[in-house]
Amino acid sequence: MSGLRYLPLGGLGEVGINMWALEWEDQVLVVDAGLMFPQEDMLGIDLVLPDISYLLEKRRKVLGIFLSHGHEDHIGGLPYALKKINVPVYGTRLTLGLVKPKLKEHRILREADLREVRVGDTVQLGPFRVETVAVCHSIPDAVALAIQTPVGRVVYTSDFKLDPDPPDGHPTDMERFRRLGDEGVRLLLSDSTNAERSGRSGSERDLHRPFERIFGEAPGRIVVANFASNIHRIQHLVRMAVQFDRKVAVVGRSLQTNFKTARELGFLKVPEGLTVQLENADKVAPSKLLLLTAGSQGEPMSALARFAAQRHPLVNVLKGDWVVISARPIPGNERMVHQTVNNLYRHGAHVFYSEVGHVHVTGHAQRDESRARPASNRIASSWSRMARLSSWMASRCGAARRSTPGSSSSTGSESATWSRSCFAIAGTWPRMGSWSSPSSSIATPVRFAPVPISSPEGSSSPSSPPGS
Ligand SMILES: [Zn+2]
Repeated sequence: MSGLRYLPLGGLGEVGINMWALEWEDQVLVVDAGLMFPQEDMLGIDLVLPDISYLLEKRRKVLGIFLSHGHEDHIGGLPYALKKINVPVYGTRLTLGLVKPKLKEHRILREADLREVRVGDTVQLGPFRVETVAVCHSIPDAVALAIQTPVGRVVYTSDFKLDPDPPDGHPTDMERFRRLGDEGVRLLLSDSTNAERSGRSGSERDLHRPFERIFGEAPGRIVVANFASNIHRIQHLVRMAVQFDRKVAVVGRSLQTNFKTARELGFLKVPEGLTVQLENADKVAPSKLLLLTAGSQGEPMSALARFAAQRHPLVNVLKGDWVVISARPIPGNERMVHQTVNNLYRHGAHVFYSEVGHVHVTGHAQRDESRARPASNRIASSWSRMARLSSWMASRCGAARRSTPGSSSSTGSESATWSRSCFAIAGTWPRMGSWSSPSSSIATPVRFAPVPISSPEGSSSPSSPPGS
């Protein structure tokens, strides 16, 4: 049977390891290749990666891997995948810039086939025509993908938010999404990370006043922990350092690498002479120093966790430090973050974190923003409860949905599929004008019948995504 298949390889019904594919007549387009750091109950596990064994079966031709943005849960698994299938990799400038050090570390940069695309470009890969669409997220140069297939268009929003005034001046391209909705979308794969959160996600600029107060009042060192790839936030903090006459030292290998890459590519503006080597940070007066560090998720081996436990070889927490954890714990990491906060307090630091201060804005759309799309449904980077809420919102927004038990392939009829714990919704999406009048509360239980994704044709094993 010929048909379009959606293949979840990771990140479906779980947070992290985002990777999925579309297949048409044994030709496969792969999107993203993320990793996940182990959770507390994964004893002895170093990394969690998507399972690409389905792609390795001989008769299948993998056309390439398209990357949506440079976050670890979308690109971190790429070196491991390329070692098994060395296919062309497509991504924007910053995304590929963040990929290169990883490939170099794995000694596969030279043979890698990296192909840069710009926002708005279209690339034909076999039966798939892939168009990149600008989205605003917590990292610059992020794109959604609008993929024209033989049976209609698939839209993958990837991670996105609707910040009308983003720091880099590149908002989500609503006009293009509006037209995509008008033209018709057969399958929408969308971000439901914040489906439980009402209202809007806010703007990076909302942090300016809280940061100004912290920088204006801190008597000694300021330490800010952040996602290593949140270039917008790093830029914001660099500007604060300039404004309040502080030098900047960067702690943690991943942050140092990303800082260097983003600066070289022009995505991070850092005045000459602002930074100091970490080895020399103790020569700067505490009231004149900003330490930027990775490890906002409390990972035990991260720079912040070691700093907080006074186990870092170069810098450790001191009494009087003001420490800002400028991130929200990824679901599942809460205990590790709280352990780090406890350690910081124990050693005399003053700590700002999401529960006790406005020191972070999310990079993911919340409910009001999710409604301003063709539908509100997520395939990657969310747990089942978020996906369910998103699917429910999609239905409230008027998205047509009809279950087709036992099949995940689309040959022209409307279909909805269930795999593990997330939904893919296919069908007829409402036009933009009807997207904006949903009910604002979620009060009724969501009832969708689970429909297993069918086994790939000719394969004896089910296509449920590995990585669980
Ligand atoms: Zn992301």
